[in-house]
Amino acid sequence: MNKIVKRILIGVGVLVGIIALVVVGFLYKFSSETGKMTPVETGQISEHGYAIKDEFVNMYLIKDSLGYIAIDAGKDIKVIETELKKLNIKPEEVIAVFLTHSDMDHVAGLPLFTNAKLYMARNEEKMLNGEKQKMPGYNNSLSRKDYILLDDHQTVEIGKHKINCILTEGHTSGSMCFQINDKNLFTGDILSLHDGKLGQSVKFFDLDHDMTTKSISKITNIPNVEVILTSHWGISKDYKNAVKDWKE
Ligand SMILES: [Zn+2]
Repeated sequence: MNKIVKRILIGVGVLVGIIALVVVGFLYKFSSETGKMTPVETGQISEHGYAIKDEFVNMYLIKDSLGYIAIDAGKDIKVIETELKKLNIKPEEVIAVFLTHSDMDHVAGLPLFTNAKLYMARNEEKMLNGEKQKMPGYNNSLSRKDYILLDDHQTVEIGKHKINCILTEGHTSGSMCFQINDKNLFTGDILSLHDGKLGQSVKFFDLDHDMTTKSISKITNIPNVEVILTSHWGISKDYKNAVKDWKE
């Protein structure tokens, strides 16, 4: 065989080997990190609140007289459809979806919610247009573009529900927490919960882990909050105790 052809083949073989190792390493880390997560089972969680479990992630629904308000939209559209049926909730009854961020495990069910207005943080557009990327060459994407952009501390009123939007960048450029009717705080992926205590986010999944850690401090001193609802680590109904020992 021609020497040059041989060298090219060896070079290609080495490159393919390196790529395969990176992919296997990524998948191993991904499954080991998601395997530790502790989402709650699908079901009613309060008088007007519902959780849907989609493998390692939760989305939430809040019942209003006008319809349901959703926090995020899950990672697998088929699972979300099945779990909604268990709760006797029709996707078309969902009138608003608030995205804590645009990672793929939070947006997959969006095409189901055809009657819903879609809200997300203004800064999160950077994750969609490629200005910010978690992996080189990979942009987050949404199934629709008619979203309404939210700014830090903006308040949205839907029926009897007041949603206070708190920008908590770091996990993604526009990660946002939603405080609903003062007492319920939906935190997305910016923190974890262990034995009811607030902990750091998973560094492997963060765009900027240090920034995420700084952002946690922003939500540890909000008057009137009682319940913390995370996307991957369950719920704490004792906010004061959960945040008490938090140190950056
Ligand atoms: Zn997530």
